[in-house]
Amino acid sequence: RLDEAMAAAAQPALTRDGTEIHVAGNVGCVADAVAATDHGADLAGLIRTEFLFLGRDSAPSVDEQEEAYRAVVTALSGRRAIIRTLDVGGDKPLPYVDQPIEANPFLGVRGLRLALARPELLRDQLRAICRVAADHPVSIMFPMVSAVDELLAARRILDEVLAEAGGGTEGTRPDDLEVGIMIEVPSAALKAAIFVPHVDFFSIGTNDLTQYTLAAERGNDALSTLADPLDPGVLRLIDSVCRAAASTDTRVAVCGEVASDPVAAPLLLGLGVDELSVGPYAVPVVKQAVRQLDLRHCQDLAARALDSVSAADVRSMITG
Ligand code: PEP
Ligand code: MG
Repeated sequence: RLDEAMAAAAQPALTRDGTEIHVAGNVGCVADAVAATDHGADLAGLIRTEFLFLGRDSAPSVDEQEEAYRAVVTALSGRRAIIRTLDVGGDKPLPYVDQPIEANPFLGVRGLRLALARPELLRDQLRAICRVAADHPVSIMFPMVSAVDELLAARRILDEVLAEAGGGTEGTRPDDLEVGIMIEVPSAALKAAIFVPHVDFFSIGTNDLTQYTLAAERGNDALSTLADPLDPGVLRLIDSVCRAAASTDTRVAVCGEVASDPVAAPLLLGLGVDELSVGPYAVPVVKQAVRQLDLRHCQDLAARALDSVSAADVRSMITG
C-alpha cells in the first residue's frame, strides 16, 4: 500500500467524485522542503520560521533571512510556499526581545501579538519574504490572530515594505503574493466572515485551536483525551470557518496534526476544507486516503459529527 501511495504521490489527489484536494507539506527547514517535494506535496502549506530566530543572541538580519527562505523555497521547485511569520512568545522567549515573564504564556504576547509589539522584527521578516516573493510563488501567513485590527495592522506594515521595495512607487506587489491567516483562536473562527474580505486563505491550526477551545494545554498528557481536535466543539468552529469561506474564493486549509489523521480526513473534507497540510512524509498516504473518499458521503458524516456528543462518538462513527 505504501508502494502504491508513493507511486501515485506526484499525482493530484482527487476524491472519487473528482474534487481536487491539495495536500501540502509542513516545513521547518530545508530538509523538510526537499522531503515535501520528493513525497509529492502540491505546495508547502506551512513554513515555520521559528528555527531562524530561536537559540541565538540577536535577531537574524534581512540578508540572512532572505538566504534561509530562498534555500527553502528553491527546494520546492516552483511549488507555492506559505511562509508563516514569526510565531514565538512567552513559552519560547527570545533573548533579544525584552519580554516580561507571563503567568500564562499561551494566553500572552505570542505570535502576531509579539510581532506587532516589536514591529521592527516583523518589518525585517517581511522585507526578506518579499525579496523571495519577487521570483517564487509565495504566500504570507500570520499566526495567532484574534482580531481583525491585528491583521489590518500587519497588512499596513506589509504594504509599507512593498512600497519601500519598489522605491515608494505603487504596483510593486508581486501579482501572485497572497496573504492569509491562521485560525487558531476561537474568536477568529467565529468571526471568519469578517476576515474574508481581507485574506486570500485561512489555515486552521488545530493544535492551538483545540487547546484554546477546550481550555486544555497542548502537550499536557493528562489532558490528551479531552484535547481531541475531533471534539464537536472544535468541529463547529471549523464549520464556521468553512461556511464563511464558501461561495467566496477564500481557500480553507488545515495545517494542525489532525490533518494527517485518516479518521479526520472525511470530516474535514465534508466540512468544506480544501487543503490538508501535513508532515512531508505523510503526503503520499494522505493523498491515497483522499482518493478513497466520496464528498457527498463526507458531508453526511460531517453533519452527523457536528451533532455528536463527544470526540469518542465522532471517532466510532467513522471507524464503525
Ligand atoms: C497549530 O497550532 O495547529 C499549528 C499548525 O501551529 P503550531 O503547531 O506551529 O503552533
Ligand atoms: Mg499554532
